[in-house]
Amino acid sequence: MNNYRIWISPPHLSGKEMEYVADAFSKNWITTIGDNVTGFEQDVQSYVGNEGEAVALNSGTAALHLSLILLGVGKGDLVICQDFTFAATVNPVVYLGAEPVLVDSETQTWNISPVFLEEAIQDCIRKGKKPKAIIWVNLYGMPAQIYEIRKMAQRYDIALLEDAAESLGSSYEGKKCGALGDISVISFNGNKIITTSGGGMLLSGNKEFIREARFLATQARDEALWYQHSRIGYNYGMSNIVAGIGRGQMTVLEDRIEARRANNRFYREAFSTIPGIEVHKEPDEHYFSNYWLSCILIDPELTGGVDCKILREELAKSGIESRFLWKPMHLQPVFSNCLFYGKDISEHLFHTGLCLPSGSNLTEEELTEVVDVIKGTLN
Ligand SMILES: *Cc1c(COP(=O)(O)O)cnc(C)c1O
Repeated sequence: MNNYRIWISPPHLSGKEMEYVADAFSKNWITTIGDNVTGFEQDVQSYVGNEGEAVALNSGTAALHLSLILLGVGKGDLVICQDFTFAATVNPVVYLGAEPVLVDSETQTWNISPVFLEEAIQDCIRKGKKPKAIIWVNLYGMPAQIYEIRKMAQRYDIALLEDAAESLGSSYEGKKCGALGDISVISFNGNKIITTSGGGMLLSGNKEFIREARFLATQARDEALWYQHSRIGYNYGMSNIVAGIGRGQMTVLEDRIEARRANNRFYREAFSTIPGIEVHKEPDEHYFSNYWLSCILIDPELTGGVDCKILREELAKSGIESRFLWKPMHLQPVFSNCLFYGKDISEHLFHTGLCLPSGSNLTEEELTEVVDVIKGTLN
């Protein structure tokens, strides 16, 4: 493990987490039910504000897996997935024996392209197999072109699963990410905008989905006096101790969003006069990003040959962590046999982009240092 001085997205505690954790201890609810689990579900639900309910789970990946089961995905089914994402978006499709169909991004939000999406749907239908679901992602916190995506889902009557793992606090026209899909998923992994150390949540306005998610997440026990099972279940519930961390984190979510947005403004201002460095930003005023990670695109033709590899290396030498953008799924060895619709948008982003330190606990001195190292490398 590298030890950086300035990390890309470290945890940022509020100081209130231990009170909730202590509450779990004092009540001896050291299990996957209790006041913290219920309280955390309510906190997130009322923040995101859809009509439904939220189910706290032990990871975002588990939440995606359950969501696909709820949507009826099974062996041999096709599921359309955003190509430009983290592998955790796509892996659960394969857990179920279904096939991911990968769709390239558009250049404005970097999320799934509605144009390529329609092409993929039509081609699958032509081949005699309508996709069972569409998973889109609000990558790096940026909301996708949700109206266009929803139009496609409605036109072809396909369920929409929102991977909002990175976008708690983001919104489109005031509607919060985490409430935009038929089912939505949030992650509280250690590097996300708020963390429970590890955890996830499944949200839906559909009460039947919520009931079934709770049932499947707790080993699918039938209502009987003894242990009886008619379906395969999972042990996916969130610990009441972990949920206590989440409750503490929810008290400062707005501050965390504002701090990450301030990072993004800082980078935009700092690089506004630097040719060849472009900070990823909201396309227009309808989009509100939590800027989970601030990302830049580098054009080596304008930077005198300096590219993202050189910048990453120079930042690392100064003890600063940065990361390449997600390597697209169609370029991953494990998904190389999947159908892919699109061009070279996600591939180009991968080859030219870098995620910069974006934590809500970054100081102005640290941000200045990051910018100085980059500017120094360009000269
Ligand atoms: C983090 C992440 C996940 C997985 O969440 P975990 O809680 O780590 O399982 C899924 N999708 C995306 C886009 C993510 O960034």
